[in-house]
Amino acid sequence: MDTFRFVKARDESHAIQAASQSKTAQQGAEVRFVAGGTTLIDLMKLNVERPSQVIDINHLPLGNVEKLQDGRLKIGALVRNFDLAHHAVVQSEYPVLSQALLAGASAQLRNMATTAGNLLQPTRCVYFRNTAMACNKRAPGSGCSAIEGDNRTLAILGTSSNCIATNPSDMNVALTALEATIHIQNKTGQRELPIDDFFVVPGSTPQRENVLEPGDLITYVTLPASRPGAKSVYLKLRDRASYEFALASAAVVVDVVESKFNRVRIALGGVGTKPWRSRAASYSAFSDRSPFSRASLIAWMIAGRSTAFRRTNSALSISAPRAVIGMATIAEKTVRKEGAPLRRKNKAPALPGPTPTYFTGAAQCWQVSRCNDCRS
Ligand SMILES: Cc1cc2nc3c(=O)[nH]c(=O)nc-3n(C[C@H](O)[C@H](O)[C@H](O)COP(=O)(O)OP(=O)(O)OC[C@H]3O[C@@H](n4cnc5c(N)ncnc54)[C@H](O)[C@@H]3O)c2cc1C
Ligand code: SF4
Repeated sequence: MDTFRFVKARDESHAIQAASQSKTAQQGAEVRFVAGGTTLIDLMKLNVERPSQVIDINHLPLGNVEKLQDGRLKIGALVRNFDLAHHAVVQSEYPVLSQALLAGASAQLRNMATTAGNLLQPTRCVYFRNTAMACNKRAPGSGCSAIEGDNRTLAILGTSSNCIATNPSDMNVALTALEATIHIQNKTGQRELPIDDFFVVPGSTPQRENVLEPGDLITYVTLPASRPGAKSVYLKLRDRASYEFALASAAVVVDVVESKFNRVRIALGGVGTKPWRSRAASYSAFSDRSPFSRASLIAWMIAGRSTAFRRTNSALSISAPRAVIGMATIAEKTVRKEGAPLRRKNKAPALPGPTPTYFTGAAQCWQVSRCNDCRS
């Protein structure tokens, strides 16, 4: 780890002023904010991040969750993941967000991790975190070790020939399905962006993951007012039952009017270079066919076409999109049946039970011995 200057921000403008001295706010920034530190400090120890100045923003007044008069929920950038997951309004009106947060990392990490830090965590691609390996995101122009290497956890949607890294955050998937807005302060004032426009796909500039510029401080995130009858659920598939990033995940938010689906929003995690909004699945009008099955079909086709990007580890290239669709189908059933979050069992359930249809054939279900979801 390189030597760096540590500064405690007196207020927002002090933090912004200091960060404005950086040439970039993306990979390789000379000045970094530190919130919970659970990502930044790791990357500094690995010499992936080498800021000469670290600005502690933990004393800024950005730690509240507030219901606004127009019904929106305002979440401060420094709200800890634990506090957000257990907030009464989040649990009752945005259960998908609570479930996504609780599916991420560990209890200790969630106590430290913040809303903005989680939003901005970079990919977990192993080559990005290893300075001995070529990586276009860390060192632009050096090549991508993952394309011919260990890529079983990497993206199949939004990739380019320069980078196939996955956005790793669970929270971001829920925020995308909820159509969150990101609020940013800098020297010239405030601006706000829909989350879908905040993240960018790698293209020819994989070192850029979002639209942030030097001096940009995320101040808060807002969620649209929850509609009466709205239901939501988050499902995550991973190599082990906890403390593990998603191989594939789905956040589903539906508005139910007179017992019918009125609008469906689906975001996919673990399979995209950014939290992946499946727009094909968003229907403003309800038809007598299940919008979900049509959406699942379209998403399956898109994911199937994209398997060409997976050059190695092809077993997973087939199974990951299939798993997502499986999960979306389970989510549909759950939302239809009870409108309540899936309850995961802590203990491994008794086997066998019928073989889950979603994960048969070439695909293997990693969860079958550990959870009851597949057999619900
Ligand atoms: C072992 C392990 C397992 C994990 N598993 C999961 C998982 O399963 N799912 C998951 O989603 N996550 C997982 N995580 C990641 C974890 O959620 C993140 O490390 C955490 O959310 C980051 O938040 P932080 O506040 O600690 O960020 P920091 O490390 O403090 O900051 C991260 C980045 O955000 C920037 N930043 C922070 N606040 C602001 C702001 N207000 N404005 C502008 N920039 C800002 C920092 O400069 C830095 O670049 C895991 C982490 C570890 C170490
Ligand atoms: S996938 Fe992206 S992050 Fe991973 S090695 Fe390739 S360029 Fe680097």
